[in-house]
Amino acid sequence: MNHVFGPVPSRRLGYSLGVDIIPPKYCTYDCIYCQIGKTTDKVIRRKSFYDAGSIADEVAAKVALAHVDVITFSGSGEPTLNSDLGTMIGKVKERVTTPVAVITNGSLLYDRDVRSDLAAADMVLPSLDAVTEEVFQRINRPHPLLDIKTIMEGLREFRAEYTKSIWLEIMLIRNVNDDPDELRKMVQIASTLGVDRIQLNTVTRPPSEENACRLEEYDLHAICKRFGPRCEVICSFEKTEEMPAQADWTEMILETLRRRPLTLDDVVRTTSLSRFQARTRLKAMEDEGLVRSYALGDDVFYVVA
Ligand code: SF4
Repeated sequence: MNHVFGPVPSRRLGYSLGVDIIPPKYCTYDCIYCQIGKTTDKVIRRKSFYDAGSIADEVAAKVALAHVDVITFSGSGEPTLNSDLGTMIGKVKERVTTPVAVITNGSLLYDRDVRSDLAAADMVLPSLDAVTEEVFQRINRPHPLLDIKTIMEGLREFRAEYTKSIWLEIMLIRNVNDDPDELRKMVQIASTLGVDRIQLNTVTRPPSEENACRLEEYDLHAICKRFGPRCEVICSFEKTEEMPAQADWTEMILETLRRRPLTLDDVVRTTSLSRFQARTRLKAMEDEGLVRSYALGDDVFYVVA
C-alpha cells in the first residue's frame, strides 16, 4: 500500500507531502462534516498499523524527487491512533531535513504517550470544534469515553509541554456550532489555550452528513475578527463554487482520462475529492469497466478502458 501522497499545494502549509498512517476509517470521532466517510472503527486504543521504517523510506524517496515544504502526517482517520507515530517521525527525521507537521483532531492529547510522540514534530495542527458537551456530541460524535473537558485539558497540557507551533483549527457548521452562546464561549476559551494561530474552516467538500452545511464567507470573516489577530479563515470558497456536483465527478475524471492517464494523487488534486473518495470512485469506475489501471514504476495509472 502506498502511504505517501502529493506533494499537494496547500494554502496552510505550502507544498505538503501527505503521509497516511491510518487505514479507513479508524477514528476517535465520527464528525458530521468528515470528508473521508463514516467511521467504521470508533476507538481510543492506539495500535501499530504499518512498518515505520518502510513508511520513512517511502517519504525519503518522494522528498528526493519533488519540492516539499512540509511532510504532513495525517490519515484516513485519526493519526495519533497509530502507536508508532513517534517512531515514524523519528525515522523520517533521520532521513530528511524537511519539517514535519501532524494534523490531529486533538482528542488523545490527554495521553502522555501521544504528547511524547508529537514532541518530535515541528508543528502540530489540532482541531477543536466545540467547547460544550452538547455541541461536542452533535458535531464530533466522539467515542463514548471521551468528553470535551478531557479534550480541552489535553490541549492545555500539550501547550504547556510543547514549545513549537500549534495551529488550532475550528470547523464551523451552520446551526450546529455557530450559535452566539457557543461562539462566545469558544472565543473566550481559545484565548486561554496559548496556541500560535487559530484557523477557521467550514464545509467546502462533500461531508459525511448532508445536513452539515457551511457558513457563508461573510459570516466566517465576521467570526474571525472576534478571535483576534491570530485568527484567519483557511477555506477557499472559490474552489467550492467551481466544484461540480457529485454526480459529475465520474464524467469529469473520464474527461481528463481521455486526454492523459491519471494516478490516484492526480484525481485527488484535480477533483477536490478526498483520497478515500477518489480511491472509491476509481474502484467503482474500474468495476463498471469504464477505466483500467496499470502499474508503471512505483505508480499506478488509470486510463480509459
Ligand atoms: S474529520 Fe477527522 S476527526 Fe472527524 S471523523 Fe473525520 S477523520 Fe475523524
